[in-house]
Amino acid sequence: MSDSTTSACTIFIAKEAAEFERRVAATPETVKKFIGLGARLLVQKGAGETANIADDDYAAAGAEIVTQAVGVKAADIIVGVQGVDPAKMKSVQKGAWLVAGLNPVGDRKRVDAYAALGVEALAMEFMPRITRAQSMDILSSQSNLSGYKAVLEAGAHYGRAFPMMMTAAGTVSAARCFVMGVGVAGLQAIATARRLGAQVSATDVRPETREQIESLGAKAVFAEGLEADGEGGYAAELTGEQKAVQAELVSSHIAKQDIVITTALIPGRPAPLLVSDSQLATMRAGSVIVDLAAEAGGNVEGAVAGEVVEKHGVKIIGARNMPSSMAADSSALFSRNIFNFLSAFWDKETGKPVLDEEIGDAIRLTKDGAVVHPRLAQT
Ligand code: NAD
Repeated sequence: MSDSTTSACTIFIAKEAAEFERRVAATPETVKKFIGLGARLLVQKGAGETANIADDDYAAAGAEIVTQAVGVKAADIIVGVQGVDPAKMKSVQKGAWLVAGLNPVGDRKRVDAYAALGVEALAMEFMPRITRAQSMDILSSQSNLSGYKAVLEAGAHYGRAFPMMMTAAGTVSAARCFVMGVGVAGLQAIATARRLGAQVSATDVRPETREQIESLGAKAVFAEGLEADGEGGYAAELTGEQKAVQAELVSSHIAKQDIVITTALIPGRPAPLLVSDSQLATMRAGSVIVDLAAEAGGNVEGAVAGEVVEKHGVKIIGARNMPSSMAADSSALFSRNIFNFLSAFWDKETGKPVLDEEIGDAIRLTKDGAVVHPRLAQT
């Protein structure tokens, strides 16, 4: 970021260029709030159109509508959902910040390119899971919406109803829905499926989720010895023996399920395989599985991100950027995460954010031309 203390901190909101990305990282509401802090806001032309926000709405909130070239060059802070392609950032100021979801583990080359540009790349998905950072956590805000949408997608592909219905023409039985992985997305999937009237059961490898499942009115399905608590509230990978126990648990339960929602992730590792092809074959024809982990390698054998694959009469929906399919709401929450983050560190004297060590060091990938994050230094 520039050392100037006299001119306002310039924040540039980039238009997303990635395929299937409809979100935007600022709304007129957050633009107004940033301006309230004393910042100058530049918004790329058309940045909000896929999230139903017109350039005029940003302009009415006080932003200047600019081209990407103008925004990148002028910015002290570039803000995005997935970040700007380094190839489009040649004219960026040395030391400028890039704040976005940067997929640092999956796309290391891009991190190296940001380092070479001399920018300070801050990866929002590395936000630590501490109480004061909850309102800055893009993984939580977006996963919550994914869990909700996964159930709606399942319902749209399921040839039957979710709730039990007693009609003059006879009774329709309730759908049985099994949620595998009870983090933020899984909890919302349980709540949504319950609201729609399904009979819901769920499993996880973190023991504390049992109480959370039951408090939502669903049945907890756990096996003895299947515990894999990792660091920072995340799960760890199961041992070979534990995987066999889990496979047995899944085999005994899944044949009776109509809808399965899988959400299991392990940070920095491919998603664990939870449902094999032979287990799929035991399910009733017409059943539906939504694999929210499809982009991370998939929890279900044969799942393809962005596609609906049919196997043994079971539809497997491979999720691809689920939050993007609700771009208006997901953008609003993402934008607030970004504002909560930058405003929490806003230094009134210099008129720009100054990070502390705990959060700064957790999310900073690059600085002064080098990759500085310990998780990336090892790779
Ligand atoms: P996640 O997206 O990393 O994983 C989803 C779920 O899959 C997790 O519950 C995980 O335990 C589970 N899982 C992993 N391997 C599995 C396996 N083999 N079988 C079954 N389940 C498996 O998780 P998340 O949504 O990020 O949430 C993880 C935890 O962190 C939650 O308890 C959440 O409440 C907590 N959290 C805290 C904060 C905060 O304090 N700031 C923010 C967000 C989340």
